[in-house]
Amino acid sequence: MSDLSAPITALKGVGEALSLKLGRLGIERVSDLLFHLPLRYQDRTRLTPIGLLRAGQEAVIEGEVTACDVVKGRRRSLLVRLRDASGILSLRFFHFSPAQQQQLRPGATVRAFGEARAGATGLEIYHPEYRLSGGSETPVDEYFTPIYPTTEGLNQPRLRALAQQALGLLDNAPEALPDVIPETLLQRFQLPGLHASLHLLHQPPPDVNIEQLTSGQHPATRRLALEELLAHQLSLREVRLRIQADGAPTLPSGRSLQARFLAQLPFALTGAQRRVLEEISHDLSRPAPMLRLIQGDVGSGKTVVAAMAALSALAGNCQAAIMAPTEILAEQHYRSFKAWFEPLGIEVAWLAGKLKGKARLDAKAAIADGRARMVVGTHALFQGDVHFECLGLAIIDEQHRFGVHQRLALREKGEAGGLTPHQLIMTATPIPRTLAMSAYADLDVSVIDELPPGRTPVKTVVVPDERRPEVVERIRLACSEGRQAYWVCTLIDESDVLQCQAAEVTRDELTEALPELAVGLVHGRMKSSEKAEVMTAFKAGELDLLVATTVIEVGVDVPNASLMIIENPERLGLSQLHQLRGRVGRGSTESFCVLLYHPPLSKSSRQRLAVMRETTDGFRIAEKDLEIRGPGEVLGTRQTGLAQMKIADLERDADLLERVSTMAQTLQGNPEITAVLVRRWLGEAAGRYGQV
Ligand code: ADP
Ligand code: MG
Repeated sequence: MSDLSAPITALKGVGEALSLKLGRLGIERVSDLLFHLPLRYQDRTRLTPIGLLRAGQEAVIEGEVTACDVVKGRRRSLLVRLRDASGILSLRFFHFSPAQQQQLRPGATVRAFGEARAGATGLEIYHPEYRLSGGSETPVDEYFTPIYPTTEGLNQPRLRALAQQALGLLDNAPEALPDVIPETLLQRFQLPGLHASLHLLHQPPPDVNIEQLTSGQHPATRRLALEELLAHQLSLREVRLRIQADGAPTLPSGRSLQARFLAQLPFALTGAQRRVLEEISHDLSRPAPMLRLIQGDVGSGKTVVAAMAALSALAGNCQAAIMAPTEILAEQHYRSFKAWFEPLGIEVAWLAGKLKGKARLDAKAAIADGRARMVVGTHALFQGDVHFECLGLAIIDEQHRFGVHQRLALREKGEAGGLTPHQLIMTATPIPRTLAMSAYADLDVSVIDELPPGRTPVKTVVVPDERRPEVVERIRLACSEGRQAYWVCTLIDESDVLQCQAAEVTRDELTEALPELAVGLVHGRMKSSEKAEVMTAFKAGELDLLVATTVIEVGVDVPNASLMIIENPERLGLSQLHQLRGRVGRGSTESFCVLLYHPPLSKSSRQRLAVMRETTDGFRIAEKDLEIRGPGEVLGTRQTGLAQMKIADLERDADLLERVSTMAQTLQGNPEITAVLVRRWLGEAAGRYGQV
């Protein structure tokens, strides 16, 4: 007798070949079978009178064979006429044996299951599952029949039998799969127990509401979804607790240094920037690592906030580092920080993948011996061969591409004194509160909910591409008045190559149409030094028009650019459009965004572009985006782990999130519960949390 935690091969009849197939479904241990839930169910719990059957319906029927003939149509088939008291129907077999023909002879009573369809002879069932029956005294199934997600070479009866075996083992040793959600919480939220839920889902009794079950609304499904969401949250909170158990340098606010910095800025901080800075100062003054996320719409001025936080670290005799997701952005930050910090006597270092040879060695040396106080770069910053003298604060810009594991890995970068750096994460993708609670359960969240004054909202127009010549004239006009413009090319094809080719073609066309303008091009396949060169030239005003692929999406700051054309905007998500559009409207002149679409537009595309025209509020756009595309896309969940959920669905189960968050607060820090749930739901990933 095997137990639930045993590898799947411990089950009767599961050998190498079958275990490989099960592995493709993510089933490795016996207990995984229990969490491999049916996609839908068949109702074989009752006999349906033939006369009541409709096309498209799956049902068990029973009747007497009145005729059994081989018929020659386009394909030869065996046609079996079946009659009960209410009507007549045919079973049709395209593959059949003489034995079958013999078995289904007139006078036999047959019970069959399958989907009725409108066929040549009226209602027909093709290749039904069937058996001869002695009459209606033969019992029907006691439960609904589960249909599982499966893979090639693995049939439903096989999977069903395996699930049954697993349920049997569960009944024999219920303690092997403990229900760790306390009874009181289950009652408060009116949820069934774990074992009852699993039984119900694998073997629904005939009185179950089957629609509720298939749509995932049944309490049994919701109970499991809740447990899974809870496991994710607890694992994030576990990471948080682990990091916060480390010491961190207590940092002074560094007011005098900050004051000198602010004095050089041509503007004053907004109220929201100041409020968020207070929150950060409070965190930095404590001896545990800060884990804070700043959400702030495009252009809300997150970089200055980052700089102020960095100054606290520097005043506390620590180094600060800021990491950006792309080299273009990292270079831009490097330029900003150099311009801001060097006048204050602070050395700023730069490190990215492309930095090679001696320059790289020099940068690493300056970081390691502490000459470089402020370090700017890409992912390269947090790789194994980079050592800091004393990293007090790590700032991660545009967190999308930075996950929990990297967050944990940062613990090693404090190095001197064994202290863990504070972490500040910045994102321009505002997400609704409940979702933020799930995705960022390991972080405290601050919101910069105010744009700097004097910004005129970007005016957005939606224009069909047959009016392209007018749009080109518009660029001519804007640039002749000394302003600059972006032209963004998109392609539905994911292929980088095609997208870059399209951008090259567009650049050539626009160069020809606008001979008096200096036209530049950036795309993802250019060397990063080339990209940076073009961006620098654009920023310096040497280029009037920049043709780009979506590589310019995040963070690029050229205040004099006041016109953006986005080609085929219908192909992009709203949040992405919002990010792109955020590249303009950064100066004081009125800015325009032209969404140059290719007709005809689908209804939903029309709606989405209308949202862009109507609002520039990132939170509203994010909410709409969430409605239209769902949370997976919006969050970029691959990094957060929320995409790999087995049962929960952030959209369907959105109303559970609040509850999950409350539960997680109650249960966090309880190592038994967390360990069981995280292992159960996150499996191997959980092992990794354990290691760090
Ligand atoms: P984001 O939040 O999108 O990263 P940035 O930090 O790039 O935004 O800031 C956008 C622009 O706004 C920059 O040119 C920056 O100098 C400017 N800025 C930041 N804070 C203020 C402020 N309080 N008043 C005026 N301009 C500001
Ligand atoms: Mg930014």
